[in-house]
Amino acid sequence: CGIVGVIGKSDTVSILLNGLQKLEYRGYDSAGIYVNDQTGHDYLVKTKGRIADLKAAIGPDVHGTMGIGHTRWATHGVPSDVNAHPQFSSNKRFYLVHNGVLTNYAELKQQYLADVQFVSETDTEVAVQLIAKFVAEGADTKAAFKKALKLIKGSYAFILVDQQAPDTLYVAKNKSPLLLGKGDGFNVICSDAMAMVSETKQFVELHDQEIVTVQANQATIETLAGDVVDRAPYTVQFDE
Ligand code: GLU
Repeated sequence: CGIVGVIGKSDTVSILLNGLQKLEYRGYDSAGIYVNDQTGHDYLVKTKGRIADLKAAIGPDVHGTMGIGHTRWATHGVPSDVNAHPQFSSNKRFYLVHNGVLTNYAELKQQYLADVQFVSETDTEVAVQLIAKFVAEGADTKAAFKKALKLIKGSYAFILVDQQAPDTLYVAKNKSPLLLGKGDGFNVICSDAMAMVSETKQFVELHDQEIVTVQANQATIETLAGDVVDRAPYTVQFDE
């Protein structure tokens, strides 16, 4: 399984699909993308099956300048179109890709989300519904994401998109690998540099307990405690 994200590129769909294809070696049962063109159009396409099945499901109208992609190795909920990622909040404002396992999802669901109608059987949907709930209660997206991260236990690599602020990817990880790739006027996120080495050779390793806000022209890494982290990129040597 793997995750990818890109912001600041007009060929977002093909970058995501190529990236997911490079992550196929990690194994998966489903795949999906969410893309947003930052002028009011967005698209969610996800399927059980191979990347080829996902490609076949993507209509010619699907385009974006930012987006996220996922290959899923099901842990909670059978492999199905509905359980494929990105998972989204009931108001269809927040879209989340996740690799890993949230160990306390049942408790969080019971404690915070008793009134929410869930559409999938995934642990991941609990995270995205929780973020939406905190935003509904008045938090901004970053604060809501942070608040959710402080409550969530388990392993994760997350990329979150707020459809109402599509200039930013919100990123965090715990015990699952995740890299920020830096480009000229764009940035990418990936589980493995191999997924994005055709776009950039400059990568920054992300650490547990960090929250990263990624825009086309900048990326900010902060600890969950609020300290800004300045970590230099390294250059990958291998070719695409
Ligand atoms: N636990 C999540 C699910 O079952 C993510 C699995 C993964 O790492 O792909 O949907």
